[in-house]
Amino acid sequence: MHSDIDYWFSGNGHNLATICDQCPQIRAKLDFLQCANKRFDFFVKSSLSIHPTKRVLLDVLHRIMLVQTMSEIRSICVYCGSQPGNDPAYEETARALGKSIAQNNIRLVFGGGTQGLMGAVADAVLKADGLVTGIIPEFLQTREAGNGYDLVFDELIVTEDMHTRKHTMFEKSGAFVALPGGIGTLEEIIEIMTWAQLGRHTRPMVLANIAGFWNPLLELLSHMRSAGFLHTAHLAQPLVVSDPAQIVPTILKAWQSGEVSAGEQDVIEKM
Ligand code: AMP
Repeated sequence: MHSDIDYWFSGNGHNLATICDQCPQIRAKLDFLQCANKRFDFFVKSSLSIHPTKRVLLDVLHRIMLVQTMSEIRSICVYCGSQPGNDPAYEETARALGKSIAQNNIRLVFGGGTQGLMGAVADAVLKADGLVTGIIPEFLQTREAGNGYDLVFDELIVTEDMHTRKHTMFEKSGAFVALPGGIGTLEEIIEIMTWAQLGRHTRPMVLANIAGFWNPLLELLSHMRSAGFLHTAHLAQPLVVSDPAQIVPTILKAWQSGEVSAGEQDVIEKM
């Protein structure tokens, strides 16, 4: 027997609006989801065969959000230097990480650059037949154009500015890795840590501590903690991984522990 909700999710916007009118909470959440995803249709259709009450609708919605979180989470955002650095271990790590991301059927989300460690990690994912989303602001795309590199991502998002770019990278990623890099890399991972500290997300954050690269940052964090400035340090705690081969397994383990949430997107957008 087909339930109303089955019809609703496989139906059109009109059906959806009718249900939403009866339940404002659902409308609010659906606006957030902007949901028109086939995966959700399937999920709901296959899981529900009872007459929907408000409570059931909310429960279904919760599950949809869970599915969305889980699918988003199959992406790892990598922040890293636009330069290669002067230790060959950095590029080796970027390539090993890219390969491992692809082999685990995870999508790479990154800043869209084609040089330095950025180019290396994306190239390695593509060479291993993986999926890459590059997210680049307009002004950097111009700088990237014509530099002789030939990386074709399956998704390239060009944003108006850096701010939108960072939000888009955040929205599309279920975990964050900082490989060695410069101040751009530092700023990106620190921002994600500050959002975690404020309880806005609980997605894994990894400092890839290749050849002790991040030790000075870890010392600084420890100094801030002992000086009493890290108010919720446990929330901002990155996972520190020095073996490149352990980066993806560490993230997979964190995802499997089930303590990961997408955070409150609407709040993050206002930050
Ligand atoms: P940096 O660590 O200072 O080299 O900056 C690297 C970070 O800044 C990357 O994660 C990117 O998000 C961004 N970035 C810097 N240079 C570029 C570039 N040429 N193309 C795209 N993104 C870049």
